[in-house]
Amino acid sequence: MRCPYCGSPVILRSADGIYRENKNNTMLYVCSNYPKCDAYVKAHPGTNRPMGTLANPELRTLRRTAHYYFDQLYKSGRMTREQSYRWLADRICVPMSEAHIGHLGEYYCKQVIQDSRELLGAQARHGPGERRAS
Ligand SMILES: [Zn+2]
Repeated sequence: MRCPYCGSPVILRSADGIYRENKNNTMLYVCSNYPKCDAYVKAHPGTNRPMGTLANPELRTLRRTAHYYFDQLYKSGRMTREQSYRWLADRICVPMSEAHIGHLGEYYCKQVIQDSRELLGAQARHGPGERRAS
């Protein structure tokens, strides 16, 4: 694997020294040019599988935000968890198995944030308090 930002090789290492705290002993795939090139992605706990592609600070922030709003889709009860992942897969045009926020680039992160917020907003507008008597 190569860093998508600078092309340097990527190394699997502990998040010690990158995370302020690393109580969970998180492992990261990090650009070997770190900290000059601040790009990394988490490995799935207990495995060597990366959670997605390497992300720079801007993309990491976008993915966190996208995950937050996406999670609200099922946490709010609007969808089941499975339905929300199917929605994500449709939205980003990939099979369900590849529907993960960690795979998203900036463009799709922004789409997911916008669409999730719209869906959540629509639910709020049609909440029980505003339902018209029929
Ligand atoms: Zn790099």
